[in-house]
Amino acid sequence: MSDPRSAWIEPGAYPVGAGVYRIPLPLPMDGLRAVNVYAIADGEQVVLVDSGWAIAESEELLVKALDGIGYGLDDVREFLVTHVHRDHYSQAVAIRRAHGSRVSLGEHERPSLEAIREAIRTGIPPAHPELVRAGAPPELIRGNQARANADEWELPDVWLGAGVTLPLRTRTLQVIATPGHTRGHVVFYDEDAGALFAGDHVLPHITPSIGLETPHAQSPLGDYLDSLRLVRSLPDARLLPAHGPDTPSVHARVDELLDHHEQRLTDTAKAVEQGASTAFEVAHVLRWTRRLRHFDELDPFNRVLATTETLAHLDVLVLRGWLTVSIAEDGVAHYALS
Ligand SMILES: [Zn+2]
Repeated sequence: MSDPRSAWIEPGAYPVGAGVYRIPLPLPMDGLRAVNVYAIADGEQVVLVDSGWAIAESEELLVKALDGIGYGLDDVREFLVTHVHRDHYSQAVAIRRAHGSRVSLGEHERPSLEAIREAIRTGIPPAHPELVRAGAPPELIRGNQARANADEWELPDVWLGAGVTLPLRTRTLQVIATPGHTRGHVVFYDEDAGALFAGDHVLPHITPSIGLETPHAQSPLGDYLDSLRLVRSLPDARLLPAHGPDTPSVHARVDELLDHHEQRLTDTAKAVEQGASTAFEVAHVLRWTRRLRHFDELDPFNRVLATTETLAHLDVLVLRGWLTVSIAEDGVAHYALS
């Protein structure tokens, strides 16, 4: 693999601490390259943090990786899932069906999961009022209405409350609510081992998408920044992210992410100062990805993410008093300098 930033996706089970293994699994589309599942050896059984996307290739590689550390799928006692996105949740549900593992998910994911289940029941795709508010054109809004498969969206066995401690045989994990990327995102903190199973909350190479969620949170970016400060207030730990390699310091990466969003907030306010008034317009002024692409160079799904992410930044600027917002008759939010 020529790009060292891609080395982490090579299949296997990589030790990242005593009795803990990082298992990268493939995704059906390659935007994120892969998702890490973490296997925690827990005596006779194994506990997995996140599960991967339910596709045959992913399950095959998971079986192979678990075999390498002495376990099979029947030994998976529990999936601890950080959030309700497909690449984290869907394989847990599929494996539960065949092997009886327990599936646990943060309790604040419930409205999102119920919304998906309701959309499947009625055949009516979830509404995205945030895209209307952002001033996105109808084709962008329609394009985001992905079809869902009922099998992937069964309910978990356990809704995890924040602050709960999970006593495994070999260690204790703390469940910490980190709303932002999703409203019910949780991370699992092993204080004794100094390790944070961070899901998509803290990623080493990229920033997680913010603000595309049904139902829409009041201030997803405000929540996200608060959740970053929350994990920054814990003793530093090894970062075990869902996408990208594990790294020595949660704190170092959180500091970079906080800086990134401050810079982004400044750029967003500047775009408004230059005359952009809706989130959709501001998203055209900002640059996207590490390669500083223009909005129109993004694929349709990433245009949706760029739009909702911009809206989330604008709403934080309103909360901070830098901007004011007024909602036009068509429901579109227009922003101006205070
Ligand atoms: Zn993810």
